[in-house]
Amino acid sequence: MFGVWSPGEDVATLAYFGLYALQHRGQESAGIAVSDGTRIVVFKDMGLVPQVFDAPVLSTLRGHIAVGHCRYSTSGSSVWQNAQPTFRTTASASLALGHNGNLINTLELAALVRESAAGGGAAGGSLAGLPEATSDTEVLTALFTLPADGVTQGIEAAALAALPRARGAYSLVFMDERTLYAARDPQGFRPLVLGRLERGWVVASETPALDIVGASFVREVEPGEMISIDERGLRSRRFAPAQPRGCLFEYVYLARPDTVIAGRGVHATRVAVGRTLAAEHPVEADLVIPVPESGTPAAIGYAQASGIPYGQGLVKNSYVGRTFIQPSQTMRQRGIRLKLNPLRDVIAGQRVVVVDDSIVRGNTQRAIVTMLREAGAAEVHVRISSPPVAWPCFYGIDFATRAELIAGGLSPEEIRVSIGADTLGYVSLEGLIAATTLPRERLCRACFDGDYPLPVAHGEQGKHLLEGAVAGAGAARAGS
Ligand code: SF4
Repeated sequence: MFGVWSPGEDVATLAYFGLYALQHRGQESAGIAVSDGTRIVVFKDMGLVPQVFDAPVLSTLRGHIAVGHCRYSTSGSSVWQNAQPTFRTTASASLALGHNGNLINTLELAALVRESAAGGGAAGGSLAGLPEATSDTEVLTALFTLPADGVTQGIEAAALAALPRARGAYSLVFMDERTLYAARDPQGFRPLVLGRLERGWVVASETPALDIVGASFVREVEPGEMISIDERGLRSRRFAPAQPRGCLFEYVYLARPDTVIAGRGVHATRVAVGRTLAAEHPVEADLVIPVPESGTPAAIGYAQASGIPYGQGLVKNSYVGRTFIQPSQTMRQRGIRLKLNPLRDVIAGQRVVVVDDSIVRGNTQRAIVTMLREAGAAEVHVRISSPPVAWPCFYGIDFATRAELIAGGLSPEEIRVSIGADTLGYVSLEGLIAATTLPRERLCRACFDGDYPLPVAHGEQGKHLLEGAVAGAGAARAGS
């Protein structure tokens, strides 16, 4: 997610570069909205950033404000209608919005929008006034354009009124014709940073997107803060007290290694985790290899601390996307085989420690252990730089149900047997937290320990929540 306000710059191209740096956060669809001060134009499509945009398309997106998004779906299917930025108009303004995270009171907010629509306040009488889109982001967009007491209000006022009603994870970048906005939920589950250009401002999910456009890091958008940027400068408002619970999994897997979170580089954190892993789960072996790329820093740390030589034993095809981030199980399994290939000369006859960042469903690690054995490894010792992922995430990662998580039902020893490793060791939760240098109470650790910072009501879960609600509403209408 990326936003830029900068008169005189080619903001669409800056957004394109920013999204390129953030492609790892979502690979299903991409979009950019641009305003020239009077009109917002949105271009979005399914696919990777360079598949969606080329020079002729970017040249049509003229203005001085832009919002860009690349989507990984956690609410609503991976379809064009749910691609972002979303777009919606009121009598006085237009809104384009990008969202990273996942709301946990989507149905409640949808009901609010529907009530308002039924009262004549909003356009359309269907769910959220948007029959085609089925994401929490569309509901939020509708909420940001609701009139107050039947009177159309500006986007800024409407957003400030609506944000305290939203619960869950939402780092937002949005705009009307004249102003760029950014907001972050009170827990700050997902990262969001502010940067300075010579003649403007940038907001982005991660710091490498600032680096790529030549912006200097200013600070993080605070949890519970909304920022507005226009020709009058930057204004900051607090819409809720900060209760920071940043996502621990960002350090494990989600964020780029060159990202800085809370003043600490993700790469350094991952190396430190690898050292701890070596201390907690030592083994006699000949070679430490990473599962590239997100296992690499922890493998370096493991090798440093253990004294076992580090090497490259698996070659990654960089043109294949992240495995668990792809939407269907069949796609995921194919993705694993496409993505990694062993270096037989390096592996054959060796006792190998293979370091990966996490085990979610277990498919990747099972395939890797098999590959390494087929390549002639004498022993395969799997080391994981996170604790077992045993609980679903409701704040923006598609770990949908406990049943899908291998550690939701099996012990580490049972998982070792299931993936076929000689030994298996996970870093402890304490070890991982210590490596971040943040206090435990400032981190969300729910997928590891089940301690959810925001409880999720029964029936308010699931990626296809609104699709069920829309289908249900349609059936109710058809039956009435
Ligand atoms: S449950 Fe896990 S993945 Fe989700 S926000 Fe919390 S730490 Fe991050």
